[in-house]
Amino acid sequence: MATTTAATFSSARTASSTLAPVTAVARVTGHANVELADGRHLALDGLFVATRIHMASPLAGQLGCGFDESPAGPFIRRDALMATTVPGVFACGDAARPFGNVALAVGDGALTGVAAHRSLIQGL
Ligand SMILES: Cc1cc2nc3c(=O)[nH]c(=O)nc-3n(C[C@H](O)[C@H](O)[C@H](O)COP(=O)(O)OP(=O)(O)OC[C@H]3O[C@@H](n4cnc5c(N)ncnc54)[C@H](O)[C@@H]3O)c2cc1C
Repeated sequence: MATTTAATFSSARTASSTLAPVTAVARVTGHANVELADGRHLALDGLFVATRIHMASPLAGQLGCGFDESPAGPFIRRDALMATTVPGVFACGDAARPFGNVALAVGDGALTGVAAHRSLIQGL
């Protein structure tokens, strides 16, 4: 991390350890030179940014599945047994969660298989 970043982060804290107000980024130029809306310039070694997500396939939308919105983007609405808002349609993994995680996606897959199987057997 650049010295500038560490110094800025450190100075953003007051004596009572509260964070300074968030300042918008006006623009990024060059490698990672950040100009803040308040006029400050930060020459950084690199930046991590949060990206937006979107469905890789239009299938769920075409089937009429409902979606929920997360700060990162939309994901398929489903209940605790992975059933979407369309009867007989199940969704799992990243497409049906507000965030990505391998272990959760694998678990979702197992649960979705069981739920889909149960849905085919009347009375369960
Ligand atoms: C850069 C990065 C780093 C990550 N690091 C971590 C980490 O450290 N730990 C962690 O737990 N998770 C991490 N994740 C998240 C993790 O990769 C996902 O949560 C996980 O892969 C989700 O599995 P999935 O099966 O739901 O979706 P995916 O792994 O995305 O699989 C979906 C598959 O469907 C295929 N597909 C898409 N559209 C169609 C179509 N129309 N027809 C046929 N096939 C289609 C895709 O090609 C893909 O193979 C990371 C993700 C990224 C992007």
